[in-house]
Amino acid sequence: MITIKDKTFVPFISAEAIQTRIQELAEQINQEYADKQPLIVVVLNGAFLFAADLSKHLTIPCEITFIRVASYTATESSGQLKQILGLNESIEGRDLIVVEDIVDTGLTLYEVCDQLQAKGPSSLTIATLLFKPAALKKQLDLHYVGFEIENRFVLGYGLDYDGLGRNTPDILVLQ
Ligand code: 5GP
Ligand code: MG
Ligand code: MG
Repeated sequence: MITIKDKTFVPFISAEAIQTRIQELAEQINQEYADKQPLIVVVLNGAFLFAADLSKHLTIPCEITFIRVASYTATESSGQLKQILGLNESIEGRDLIVVEDIVDTGLTLYEVCDQLQAKGPSSLTIATLLFKPAALKKQLDLHYVGFEIENRFVLGYGLDYDGLGRNTPDILVLQ
């Protein structure tokens, strides 16, 4: 159990369960990309631990790059737009695997994938450690999912609450 500011978080997914599942996902990627050389696009900050542990089990040749997603408001009517920062590689003709920490509404990843698709990759799949099906608002093809979870706020193993709590080996849930 940990308390951050006014919130208490209790154990939810153990470090051991996370590592076992990540190994399974990596094996699936190794098989499905056996004849490819994917470009792994890690969405910072939340996915940093997931991407690190996942990539240690990848035996295929792959490139790993990191992006950030910045939100900005273009006009009142269009609401929040997303800008991809840090992508220096050409992705045309590449096989992309976008690595995320969690898909909640899916709005972030939907826009990110839309912008990546516009740059002409030869394929694009998503690997997310966590997925909250009940919160999803956009149709997204989530090819690799670590854990489907209920619609509750989680923390740890990369995921933060107000900037804190990313540095735990397990995942906790708001009490
Ligand atoms: P989206 O709603 O666009 O799918 O999620 C956007 C981002 O919100 C995620 O990448 C993640 O950073 C954050 N987020 C969504 N659900 C949770 C949660 O339960 N815990 C934490 N710590 N962050 C979350
Ligand atoms: Mg994220
Ligand atoms: Mg966050």
